[in-house]
Amino acid sequence: MRQRPPACGIPVHLTPQDVERFTGIPDAAYEVREEQTCHLSWIHGGPHAALVQSSDIPGREWWAVWESGKRCRVVLLPCCAVTLDGAVDEDGEPIGCCLYACHGGEHVWMD
Ligand SMILES: [Zn+2]
Ligand SMILES: [Zn+2]
Repeated sequence: MRQRPPACGIPVHLTPQDVERFTGIPDAAYEVREEQTCHLSWIHGGPHAALVQSSDIPGREWWAVWESGKRCRVVLLPCCAVTLDGAVDEDGEPIGCCLYACHGGEHVWMD
């Protein structure tokens, strides 16, 4: 049984311009909300980060990245390539970390 570590959860607000920009991306996978929360595990080094939107570049997604108490910036980051040892999902695909490459804290496995 896999357990998701508790998330950091520190909130940040995207600017209305960012919400509009990332809502309008072709083939967008997610609904972009103005309020975002950090997806990293409870204790992590480096900046906070929240997944904002998919991109049309394979293996890269748009992340809001910010330091505590500062404004976020939205950057295109490669996905974390680490997979859970020997574990596969219902489709037989390896279970991967759903964060970006070189994130702080623990890996967060896909459900
Ligand atoms: Zn955080
Ligand atoms: Zn990871």
